[in-house]
Amino acid sequence: MLFSDLGLSEDVLRAVSDAGYSQPTPIQEQGIPYVLQGRDLLGVAQTGTGKTASFTLPMIDILAAGRARARMPRTLILEPTRELAAQVSENFVVYGKYHKLTMALLIGGVSFGDQEKKLDRGVDVLIATPGRLLDHFGRGKLMLNGVKVLVIDEADRMLDMGFIPDVERICKLIVGKRQTLLYSATMPREIQKLADSFMTDPMRLEVAPPASPAELVQQRIVYTGGKDKEKALCAILEAAEVSNALIFCNRKRDVDSLYKSLKKRGLDVAALHGDMAQAYRMEVLSKFKAGDVALMIASDVAARGLDIAAVSHVFNYDVPTHPEDYVHRIGRTGRAGRSGHAVTFAAPADKKYVNAITALIKSEIPVLDIPGIKAPGAGKEEPAPRQAGSRSRSSERKRPAEKKPALSRGSPSPEKKMVDDKPKAGGRKETKEPARSGEKPGGGSGRKKSDSKTGSGGQKGGKKGPVVGLGDHVPAFMRRGPHNSK
Ligand code: AMP
Repeated sequence: MLFSDLGLSEDVLRAVSDAGYSQPTPIQEQGIPYVLQGRDLLGVAQTGTGKTASFTLPMIDILAAGRARARMPRTLILEPTRELAAQVSENFVVYGKYHKLTMALLIGGVSFGDQEKKLDRGVDVLIATPGRLLDHFGRGKLMLNGVKVLVIDEADRMLDMGFIPDVERICKLIVGKRQTLLYSATMPREIQKLADSFMTDPMRLEVAPPASPAELVQQRIVYTGGKDKEKALCAILEAAEVSNALIFCNRKRDVDSLYKSLKKRGLDVAALHGDMAQAYRMEVLSKFKAGDVALMIASDVAARGLDIAAVSHVFNYDVPTHPEDYVHRIGRTGRAGRSGHAVTFAAPADKKYVNAITALIKSEIPVLDIPGIKAPGAGKEEPAPRQAGSRSRSSERKRPAEKKPALSRGSPSPEKKMVDDKPKAGGRKETKEPARSGEKPGGGSGRKKSDSKTGSGGQKGGKKGPVVGLGDHVPAFMRRGPHNSK
């Protein structure tokens, strides 16, 4: 199936071809014709499936007829986070390049004044987080009765964040005939109820997730706790070839304190969480995306949906308490056919969360031992099952002659393999002695501010040779067929 078979206009097809896409993804192939027909659509799909284009492309054509009126947006897209809202607006810019559509982004942390000016001029597309949208509505700056297409994106994330009552209010405010498109990675009861209440005879489309984490990301768990956790993280940063990494903490205050601590160590690091000013959040994110900063410590605000190319490592500095968040977090790496690495630090108290994760991903996470790092109580854990290319902890102990520092650049251990698989960026000088994980940080890290250029260069190098026509999300969604049900 080709994009030209889907009923899209020539101008949209041109923009799609400029974006380098040769073939529609399953959700695009099946969803676009329905959206163009004006049908309601319930998409069980997550990011990485091409779902954003599956609604933006037909919306652009729907919007081509008619024009915007002051304060009456013609379409509304609800997103759970500011970052996702901004990402969707970038998609409209790319796909709508041959159309003259007006767009406003209503997200928190940005001045009301500028947003109001845009609304006053009239917008075709309004992309908003629910809270900020209702703020504008409450101030009398917005009328929703002109909305002809409503998109509720990442509905299960909205549920997690407590936004469903706001979404319901918004649905009720859009009176008159409208087309509703709802996307959710999972379909919990509350989302099904929302769909039943506010959608008319929706077409239900279900597509497989882009890929299961086990296929693309090499996962490891380090049993550690207390102060050793930071030591363990630094040992890996020191010894492994981490060209860039996302480091997730569960709490915002831990993001801040780890940031301060790593900064003090001279690492090339930035922090991102929901309490930061929006302009700053955007700046941090774009620096990380551009490879201008190598390490980003973040809360789960960065876990979902963000389309960041070539992240070599994800660290779960804290074990996520919701197992789905683990999948979302580690899904930031191992994209576009590149290898990715995910390391989770767990204390004995995290056992129940680790169990929930392994139950969800249906496999154990092999243990990574780091010399000098104690595993509190972990010695009694079930040893991780042997995996291809992986050695169990006990077998490493039995063969001291082969024991090399974990993640050391000179080590042929599985952990070395873990870092070797990444695309060679050519950004690191090979003249240095291999860093030893037992050594003090500072001995050879590519993440030091002083040689972060090298590190960033590595990442940039990692980006070269883009996967033609597939953006960053290859080919899992092409390989798997959709499950289409009504
Ligand atoms: P999404 O699932 O909407 O977050 O999209 C994930 C990524 O897939 C984005 O980087 C898009 O640019 C890319 N993408 C969307 N549609 C296609 C397509 N038909 N072919 C290749 N890449 C695509």
